[in-house]
Amino acid sequence: MRFSTGTRVAALASVWLSFTSALPGLGHDNDDVITRDVAIIGGGASGTYAAIRLRELGRSVALIEQRDELGGHTHTYYDAAAPIDYGVWIYTNNTDMERFFAHFNIPLVAEILNGDPAYTRRYDFRTGEAVAALGGNIIDALTRYVGILLQHPYLAGGFDLPDPVPEDLLLSFGDLIEKYDLGAAVDMITQFDQGFAENILDYPSIYILKYLDLAVIQGIQFGFSRPASRANQDLYKAAEAELGEDALLGSTVARIQRQDDKGTSAHHKDTNAHHKGTSAHHIVVDTPSGKQRIIANKVIVAIPPLLENLDGFDLDDRESDIFSRFQYSSYYGSVVNVTGLPRQLQIFNKATDTPYHVADLPGTFTFNPTAVEGIHTGFFGGGAGSLPEDQARQGIIDNLLALRNAGYPVSEPEIIALRSHTPFGLHVSAEEIAGGFYRDLYGLQGYRGMYYTGAAFHAHNSAELWEFTERVLQEHVLVD
Ligand SMILES: Cc1cc2nc3c(=O)[nH]c(=O)nc-3n(C[C@H](O)[C@H](O)[C@H](O)COP(=O)(O)OP(=O)(O)OC[C@H]3O[C@@H](n4cnc5c(N)ncnc54)[C@H](O)[C@@H]3O)c2cc1C
Repeated sequence: MRFSTGTRVAALASVWLSFTSALPGLGHDNDDVITRDVAIIGGGASGTYAAIRLRELGRSVALIEQRDELGGHTHTYYDAAAPIDYGVWIYTNNTDMERFFAHFNIPLVAEILNGDPAYTRRYDFRTGEAVAALGGNIIDALTRYVGILLQHPYLAGGFDLPDPVPEDLLLSFGDLIEKYDLGAAVDMITQFDQGFAENILDYPSIYILKYLDLAVIQGIQFGFSRPASRANQDLYKAAEAELGEDALLGSTVARIQRQDDKGTSAHHKDTNAHHKGTSAHHIVVDTPSGKQRIIANKVIVAIPPLLENLDGFDLDDRESDIFSRFQYSSYYGSVVNVTGLPRQLQIFNKATDTPYHVADLPGTFTFNPTAVEGIHTGFFGGGAGSLPEDQARQGIIDNLLALRNAGYPVSEPEIIALRSHTPFGLHVSAEEIAGGFYRDLYGLQGYRGMYYTGAAFHAHNSAELWEFTERVLQEHVLVD
């Protein structure tokens, strides 16, 4: 256990113990109070980066993660023949990503995607009917798409948008395609932009532009990065080993009592005068071995900021109003034992009867071959809100079996691993964005001692989130 300042710890701990004894519902099953400079909630890509980086910079941390392992959307199935990533797969290149892997001495290799159309097929997964590729000049359409990205360079750093928000960002993606004649590139864009809730053509274009952004396009052109082990979970196993007891796994926040700007407990401003002058947050965490109390000067929230996820976080009306507006989608990753599909082929779901043949959802986006013969990965999603696991499981099986109609002798599929990535893709309507939603969201950075990172604040891209988290640390957490 490491403390930032010993004397302060003792004083705060005694305040905390007397404070909690007066509060109903906090319990007393673990009197061990730990004190940290920063408590981080959520041990996915952003939270794990924040924890390791803050330690590197000499700060003490506690990382609270609900699952029994770190990594968030990163999942590796360790097959005896070879590891299989069925969540996060490849990384765009930047110096924070390289430094993060170097910190653990995990060597990276370049991953050059095989863009050869001979290795992809398109079928309507409802029926197994083949769907032709969209016609037109892809290079020209992609050049126009890149031209739009270049007009909005601030998108690479987050959602720090101009006021008023440029009209193109608010157009539905379908309208953007029409306006800039992007039709020939839709196949490629939707190959990368998976996990959207409903018809991707209805989304405000900003979300598509932030998903397939310049960094990803550079990756497609020049290569992405990947651990040489081909096992992305290795990064988070190494982080777990380094953090030791500072990573509270299988744990969730039961309650936070935060300090307002004046260093006064917002919750108990009037009744707890003895608390004035401290600047610590008091966090009660449900852990597998009982309640753990943490005193932390700062809190970083690195979980999807939905109201249902922030129960007990002592939100005020301003915070609740902003977070209540997010919508999200369902997304599942699976590893499937199945034979009969060609070894090299990546198979995409397209619809025969939709504009630009975008897939009919919910459904499987794609089936990918892996390094192990007879094992494929499949990514399922598309429902707004939470789609039950049974539906995902059955949907993946039905979609595979439909490929028998395409002439593949598909065996009875057996799903050997299935992970939920829900809630995925937090988003709001074009009207909300135009009304300053992201200005308001970013205005919460540091508000009442809470700091934020994660995909809802930037993009579903691990390397870009590490870059974003680095900025949150350097510009806010370490200086406020
Ligand atoms: C199938 C799939 C494939 C992807 N492939 C790639 C890829 O190849 N390359 C890439 O760069 N990106 C990829 N991404 C996107 C990217 O990795 C994610 O967007 C990124 O991991 C998001 O990081 P995050 O820190 O915001 O959240 P997450 O990684 O989701 O982390 C949030 C963490 O918080 C935990 N948590 C949630 N609620 C609570 C709570 N109440 N209390 C405690 N803990 C909680 C969760 O268990 C989770 O571990 C992929 C995503 C998916 C779903």
